[in-house]
Amino acid sequence: MRLTPGGVHSNVRLAGARDFIQRAQGAWLYSVDGQDYVDYLLGQGPNFLGHAPGHVIDAVFRACKDGVIFGGQHELEVRAGELVLEALGWADLVRFSMTGTEAVQAALRLARAVTGRTKVVRFEGHYHGWLDNVLISERDGRWGPASRGQLASHLEDSIILPWNDAERLADVLERAGEQVAAVIMEPIMINAGVIEPRAGYLEEVRRLCDEHGIVLIFDEVIAGFRLGLGGATERYGVTPDLATYGKAIAGGFPVAALAGRADLMARFGTGEVNHSGTFNASVMAMAAVVASVGTLIDEPPYDRVAEHGTALMAGLREIGLARNLPLRVSGLPAAFHVSFGDVEVTDYRSLQQLDLARYERFVPVLVEHGLWVAGRGVWYVSAAHGPKELDAALTRFEKALTQWVS
Ligand code: PLP
Repeated sequence: MRLTPGGVHSNVRLAGARDFIQRAQGAWLYSVDGQDYVDYLLGQGPNFLGHAPGHVIDAVFRACKDGVIFGGQHELEVRAGELVLEALGWADLVRFSMTGTEAVQAALRLARAVTGRTKVVRFEGHYHGWLDNVLISERDGRWGPASRGQLASHLEDSIILPWNDAERLADVLERAGEQVAAVIMEPIMINAGVIEPRAGYLEEVRRLCDEHGIVLIFDEVIAGFRLGLGGATERYGVTPDLATYGKAIAGGFPVAALAGRADLMARFGTGEVNHSGTFNASVMAMAAVVASVGTLIDEPPYDRVAEHGTALMAGLREIGLARNLPLRVSGLPAAFHVSFGDVEVTDYRSLQQLDLARYERFVPVLVEHGLWVAGRGVWYVSAAHGPKELDAALTRFEKALTQWVS
């Protein structure tokens, strides 16, 4: 507080778990006061390989000894590009940046440039970064700027719709499709509730985008490399025109990527469309991508992650049932959502019918008992979570719940 507003450097950290961390290893965090935490926040997702994965740290350290940023090209950026495109399987070209926010901005600009249109369709509850033209929140059923100081005019070209409702999208595009440059979404809505797309929804969105000449952007900043090598695109079998990646791509280091079809992405290369960044594709970033994505390809941890996540979800449900509490655990083993309530959740609006505030009140108790989790109910599982962490997590959760309800 003395040095930085709110004592944090990202407003996301104002809510949920707070403590001074001294070090982290694998699936564990250790505070300066000697408290240990089983970590299911994973730095908001990036530590998919666990904290301080030795070979990634070593690779970055080795590479950086020969320089950090050149303002020129280098071999690691070529290797990183090859590996990312190999992992994704569908995209032709990739551009790296530092953050998911920037990758999203590049995608939106490119979509507007290639279509010559201005409007963007996006969805309630989906997060695409903190900048003026994408940051939204809901108040009394109306969506608008989420922050003081954010110009409402920056959102004038956004059409904000309920997600998972293909009819509603079709209606809007019927009327306004000719003005719409892009439809952007999290193909699985992890940021709010970890909600999967309804069967056939993504296919219908794809068809509608094709019919109206609209660029389909999947924001896979969380899902990419976490749900599997090919992320949500592979899981649901629907291919976007552009997709953004980040978080799990680089073992905790700050890297994001925009990948997509050659005919679209090539516009960056001709200089027609600007995408820049002093620190893009730094040696540190590219060494981290090569080591991390290389591991995901050579020794895929996805079965292990699924095993841990499945057992953890089942264990949490059992603990809730044993106490007759409506503890709701839903989503996928690699990223799931915990809350209180019992309704069918298919979008942001139905999510609000859960008792999200009750879970948020429970989070400080979980943290006190050594579970490092997000206030909004999303739990991330890493490749470093194993049986020991499962035991510890379930024991700690049970104790926390017992203390909280008594
Ligand atoms: N898109 C999605 C789906 C995200 O979850 C996030 C961050 O949580 C972003 C974009 C923004 O990424 P960053 O925080 O790296 O700017």
